[in-house]
Amino acid sequence: MNSNRPVVRFAPSPNGELHLGHAYSALFTEARAKALGARLLVRIEDIDLVRSRQEYVDGIFEDLAWLGLEWELPVRRQSEHFGDYRDALARLDLRGVLYPCFATRQQIRDAVADAPDHPLDPDGAPLYPGLSKGMPAVERDALMAAGTPYAMRLDMELAMEIAGRLTFEEHECRPIGTVHADPAQWGDVIVARKDVKTSYHLSVVVDDALQGVSHVTRGQDLFHSTHIHRLLQVLLDLPQPQYYHHDLVRDYGGRRLSKSARDKSLRALRENGTTARDIRRQLGFT
Ligand code: GLU
Repeated sequence: MNSNRPVVRFAPSPNGELHLGHAYSALFTEARAKALGARLLVRIEDIDLVRSRQEYVDGIFEDLAWLGLEWELPVRRQSEHFGDYRDALARLDLRGVLYPCFATRQQIRDAVADAPDHPLDPDGAPLYPGLSKGMPAVERDALMAAGTPYAMRLDMELAMEIAGRLTFEEHECRPIGTVHADPAQWGDVIVARKDVKTSYHLSVVVDDALQGVSHVTRGQDLFHSTHIHRLLQVLLDLPQPQYYHHDLVRDYGGRRLSKSARDKSLRALRENGTTARDIRRQLGFT
């Protein structure tokens, strides 16, 4: 019945309390939903089983309801769908674009320590220097048999060769229009972490497709991730959403708000007497 309506989603990770930056993202998503006549979903992105906590999930629903957001039920929780990500990983593996990587972060840092010009990915981490790539099968099988933890990485060169030219449609951050996607800036990115056998990139792409998300609204900090998402969508034969990467809320010093910096949470603001209407007005959503 709903199948023809556009779908948007707000997809927080429950590893801290929501702050004004999240409120902006949620209200931006609500505004897009209204403008597009779209269904509004909330998705809990909790693949990080160490950092995610139930109290933060409860807090997210409390904060969003307080802000006046209305979303459809049931809410998808990524931690309940690891099987979907495993299937997608197997499909990528069948295409021959994955390889196991046994290297630790320290080994990667050591490998690039003497190369000050070694390229960095958009998050500032050194591009994977290829330590486990091309490892002889006997060595790989022995490590696996010994239970050595491994991540799965995408062979970027091969994947891009298969996918061909990639683009996405950007509607919010400038320049608006067709963006040439260049996932090579991430090198051989991890698509399945050692601990949970999926990644933010893989889970998001699988879920957006499964949930029929037609318009992705999220902060500009994830703009570069979209380049990988387009590649994964093509390799997995998934539909292509439209993208809106919105501005990030900054404090008076121009610093991005973050959970780790202990920025004032929505709960703390609420307890100090701020109203949802104040927040909407402050963020420009009246
Ligand atoms: N879970 C991500 C975050 O909280 C957002 C993912 C997305 O919108 O694609 O930053």
